[in-house]
This record gives sequence, structure tokens and C-alpha cells, in this order.
Amino acid sequence: MYHISDCRKYIRCPHLFVYKEEAESSTYIPFVRLDESMTELVKKRLGITDCFEGKRGDEASLALQALSNSEWLVNARFEHDRLRVKMPFMHKNEEGWDLYFLFTGLFPRGDNLLYYTSTVWVLEHNGILIKDIRIVHLNGDYVRGEHLDPMELLQISDQFYTSRNHPSGNVRDRIYKALYDMTGLLDEMDACSKETLPPAVRTSRCTTRSRCSAYESCFPEETAEEDSSVLFLTGSSERYAMKKEGILRMKDVPSERIEGLRIQYAEILADCNGGLFADRLALKNWLSSIHYPVTFLDFEWDTFAVPPYEGMKPYDVLPFEYSVHILDEDGTLTHKIFLSENDCRREMAEALLRDIPETGSLIAYNAEGAEKIRLGELAAQFSEYRDRLLDMADRMEDLQLPFESGMVYDLRMRGQWSLKTIMAMMDAPGYSDLDIREGMQAVLEWRTMENDTDAEEKEKIRNDLEAYCGMDTYAMTVVLDWLRKLV
Ligand code: SF4
Repeated sequence: MYHISDCRKYIRCPHLFVYKEEAESSTYIPFVRLDESMTELVKKRLGITDCFEGKRGDEASLALQALSNSEWLVNARFEHDRLRVKMPFMHKNEEGWDLYFLFTGLFPRGDNLLYYTSTVWVLEHNGILIKDIRIVHLNGDYVRGEHLDPMELLQISDQFYTSRNHPSGNVRDRIYKALYDMTGLLDEMDACSKETLPPAVRTSRCTTRSRCSAYESCFPEETAEEDSSVLFLTGSSERYAMKKEGILRMKDVPSERIEGLRIQYAEILADCNGGLFADRLALKNWLSSIHYPVTFLDFEWDTFAVPPYEGMKPYDVLPFEYSVHILDEDGTLTHKIFLSENDCRREMAEALLRDIPETGSLIAYNAEGAEKIRLGELAAQFSEYRDRLLDMADRMEDLQLPFESGMVYDLRMRGQWSLKTIMAMMDAPGYSDLDIREGMQAVLEWRTMENDTDAEEKEKIRNDLEAYCGMDTYAMTVVLDWLRKLV
């Protein structure tokens, strides 16, 4: 029996479908945290007090029986052909059934309807007469008070939305227009196996948005590529074609076959120069904007679909830790760390004001995408600290800039410039000795620490989190020192 997730993988790529079947046991860490039971919140929103409630592993006959006995069906499992679906909420009226799908985002999109069409396809083949179709989703304007209010938190919509959040069409009309017989797809999935698949072919779907999770399994030979390989030419649309034609190194790429990005010139020149390129003039200019005391800042945070604390909105983030290294002109390095459980926003804002000097430069890695945003959020929440927090954001320099803009490139970066890559490249004491080595692992450990009652275990996690976040700011001091030595 297949689930919709299997169809989705197969449609994206048959190799992903086969690979995922093999890697079923791999651990998935949800990026967004959902502590509340959405089912219970929606039941309150829809006024459901009495219902049939399905569960994982139910025989499909149970839901069919419930159709005649219950006015509301919640999470009922239905099957048709080789497909099994879960219908979140169904309500019986005099003419048939109203369906309520659940979408835990803010605006249900009408661009990928597979989830809706497959469910409706199965329900119709079970003889269910479908009337209205609506979607229950989170309300992005909702601000939590002391308690969660499901009536305000959740919206019921009969519209899909565009990527700009404008209504894009009636839910029922769009689903029925896109409905198709899924038998052919299920036949294809049945016939698809490791033995019948042709070799994987690299296309834009392998790397668009983010690299496909099966990438290394499909193209294991890439991990053995030389540092100078043309495959590491950032943003090149022709790198695979060039490799096929025998252009193996970046220094051999004809100028008319590059897009002309500054980082591409840096990569090619690094290969020509024997491994390193540095635009010393540009770098010197950038470094001249860094003033003592230099403060390096890094935050860790969790993201919540449903706001857990007063004043928060759906999908707000909660920073739970920061590390600060302060470098004085005489070379003295001071380290401060803040780590807390539960709602620590006010204490964190106050600690930042105490720990970060009011003068000098503030440095973060990927500042625009993270630390500046976190400071802006705290400034918006605590008006009494607003000006000082915004001043910190204004003083912030992004240490990633020299790398992403092609001021510096070392072939050992292999097309990447995360702090971890650069530390590994410099053979500096780094992340490999730590128990926490990834941002998402830190988030997962913090979630565990929040719920753990074992004092010893809490202490171990606390130490690991402090070591990880502290390493991020320490690594920045090493990288800045390296850049200074280059000029
Ligand atoms: S890496 Fe490409 S070929 Fe391999 S599973 Fe992913 S999308 Fe398919």
C-alpha cells in the first residue's frame, strides 16, 4: 500500500522514490517545531465534541462504518487501489460530506495539488459524495495572549493563494479541475525498482533550492573529485557539460563559458595560482571597516509553527542561546555565553546589552540572514531596548562577505564557504571534536533539554550547546585573523 508521500517522491524523481524506500530508517529532524496537537486545536475551532477518530494502522473498514454512525470523522483512513490516505476532518450534512484539509502553514498554495487530488480520488472511489472543500490553516496575523485561542489562531479558507499571498482560486474548483485517475501512476510505481531504474541523470531538480537528500547516493563519484574540479565552479550552468567534454579543471574553462560571477573568477584564479586567490585590495578595504573592540556574535534559535508564548505569532522564532567573543586591540579574547530554557527573550535582550560593548564592530557569519534579523526581532518586542539593539544591528559586519563575494577563494573550499568548511580547511581545532556539530542538532538537543528532568543529562546537553555555539564565535576569530594575515 502506498501513501501520498510515496507518490510525491516518485513524481519528483523515481530515484528518490527508490532511494527513500531503502533509507526509511534515517532520522528526520523537523525544522519547525509543532508542540501542540493540531488535531485538538482544529477540533475546538470547528466545534467538534463528538466524532469518530481514526489512528495509524486502522483497517479501512473502520472509517467506512463510521460514515453511517458519525457526524464528524477525524483523521479517518481510507484506501482505494494501492493508495491509503488520511482525511483530516469530514462533516456530514444533508447532501453529502464537507471536507476540511489541514495546512500547518499560513497560506495554502494552489501549485501542488497532489495531496488534495489523491485524497479526493480515494474518497470518491469509496462512494463518498463530496460537497464543500475547505482548508484550515494558521493565521499569520494572530498574536498569542496568555492562552492560545484556536478561534483566532486558525482560519478556514475556501481559497488557495499565490506565492504573493493573493487568493488564486476556489479550493474545490481547483482540486476537481486537477483530479485524474491515479491508476497509471500507481502501476508505474509498482514497476519501479533498483533493478529497473536507468542510471541517475543529473538535472536542475537535483540541486534547485537545496541539494537533493539522495544526491550522494546517486552520484558517489563526485565526492572523489579533485579540489580543482570544474564541478566546483559556483553557479556554472555548463560545468557538467564541460566535464563530459574533457574540461576537467577550473583553470581550463574558456572565458566565454562562464557566467562572469566574481566568485567564478576567484575560483579560476585560485586554480591558476596554485590553490589560493585573494583580492588583497578589496579585502584590505573591507577589513578597514572593522574596529576594536571586535565582537563576534552567534545565535541559536528554534522556530514554532504555533506560538508557545505570549506576544508571539505563528512561525515566530525563539532565540535560546548566544555566544560572544570580544577581541581587544591588545589581543585579549573574552568569551560570554547565554543559554536558557523556555521563554528567555527578555533576559536575552538584557544580557546582550550587558555583554556587547557599545563601541567597535560587531561581526557575525551570515549576519544578514540571521543575527541582524534576530536583533531586529528582539528590538520589536522590547521597545525599551529598541534603540540599543538596532544600533547593534547597524554596526554589524558579515564575515561571510569576503568569501561569497569572491574576495578570497581557496580550492580546498570545494565551492562552499560555511564556517565549518573554512575551519576544516585551515586544520584549526574545530567542530569534529564536539558532540554537537550542526545547527539543527543543537536545536534538537535544546528541545530535549527543555523536556528532560534528569539533571545530569541536562548538564551534559548544556555543556555541549555552550561548546557548539562558542565554537561558532571562536571560529570567526580564527577566520578574521586568517584574512588579516592574507593582506
Ligand atoms: S539526486 Fe537527482 S537523480 Fe538523484 S534522486 Fe535526487 S533528484 Fe533524483
